[in-house]
Formats: sequence, structure tokens, C-alpha cells
Amino acid sequence: MFIGHYAPAAIGASTGRIKLWQAFVGAQLVDYAWAGLVMAGIEKARITPGFTQANALDLYHMPYTHSLGMAIVWAVVGALIFAAIFRKQAKAGAIVFGLVVLSHWFMDLIVHVPDLTLWFGTDKYGFGLWNNRSLSFSLEVGIFVLAMMYYLKSTVANGKSGRIWPLILIGFMILLQVFGNYGPPPKAMLEFNLSAWFIYTVFAVLAFMVDKSRAYKNIAK
Ligand SMILES: [Zn+2]
Repeated sequence: MFIGHYAPAAIGASTGRIKLWQAFVGAQLVDYAWAGLVMAGIEKARITPGFTQANALDLYHMPYTHSLGMAIVWAVVGALIFAAIFRKQAKAGAIVFGLVVLSHWFMDLIVHVPDLTLWFGTDKYGFGLWNNRSLSFSLEVGIFVLAMMYYLKSTVANGKSGRIWPLILIGFMILLQVFGNYGPPPKAMLEFNLSAWFIYTVFAVLAFMVDKSRAYKNIAK
């Protein structure tokens, strides 16, 4: 899953406990790690054009980042690090952040073909929605836009920029989803992994601009 991961992130941010940019980093935390571990040769993936309709990646070994057990570990460790760095947001923020990190595995479960394990060496799971390009595309864009609308309803714009930055963020992300699902397959894993790091970071920076341009409605800080 790609921009659909940011639906739980937007819901998490709309609680007012974590910032949108923090939620964006959390939603892709395991994929940041995944790209690094694939480059290090510890997790394995290969480009197989037509592997599914929506995605050309055969993700045949990724127990450190995409097993349910390790997703829980990432969520707990992520929450602890969050609490240590962002002390003011403390407990509630760390819990929301951890839940957003954990959401990654369950969102992937919907679209991946069976490549997600429960733990190292267990059977693999995945409902395979990537086999239907238009359906998986609609689902990702649909839940992302709905969740962002919910986030926008929970916040108010600080002037004009508070309306423009969300539009830039949402428009840019949908554009990349179109490219990911309907564009050419990636040329090489290295290029794919580096661009994943880059794109996730650009999304988080744009989310930071949204944070700066909006304020929460009902939540005391
Ligand atoms: Zn993933």
C-alpha cells in the first residue's frame, strides 16, 4: 500500500495528540526500515513486471519489517522513542504514534498478495487487492482523501496558507499514487528504495507545512 497508509496517519493526527508530519513518519516507519534492509541485503525483493496489476514488486522476504510480531515491536519501540523525543506530547502522543506505526501491517494486508508473515518463517498472508488495479487504486485514494477531510474538519486554517498546503499535499500524493499504479515499473531496486526514502520524506515535509498552517479546534494544548 502507498498513500492509503496515510489514512490512519490523518486519523491519528486529528486526535490532536500528534502532529500530521509525525503521523506521516509513523505510518511509513517500517517501510523506511524496509528500504534500508533491502539495500543492505537483509530483506529481499525483486522487480517482476506484471507481478500484480498494481505493483511490480515481488516482496519475497521481509520478516524484520513486515511480520505482525515485528510490526508490534516497531510500534512499541517507535512509541518509546517518540516519548523520549517529544516529551510534551508524552504518553497520549506516544500511544497514538505507536498505533499509527502498527496500522502499517494491517493496511498492507489488504493489498499485498500473500507475503506478510505473522513472525519469522510462518505462513504468509495478504488479501491481494493489488491484483485489481482500479479497485486498489480507488481504495487507497478514497480512504486517504476521506481521512484527510476528517483531519481538516478537526483543524482550522490559519489564513490562506492553511487551505493551500493541504491541497498541495493531497494533490501531490494522489499524483504519485497514479504514477505508482499506472506508470512504468521501477528500473532497479536500489533506485526504488532510494526514491521511497525520498518520497516519504517529501510527504512528511509537506505534512509539516500543513501543521504550520493549521490549528486544532477543540483540543487544549
Ligand atoms: Zn509496507
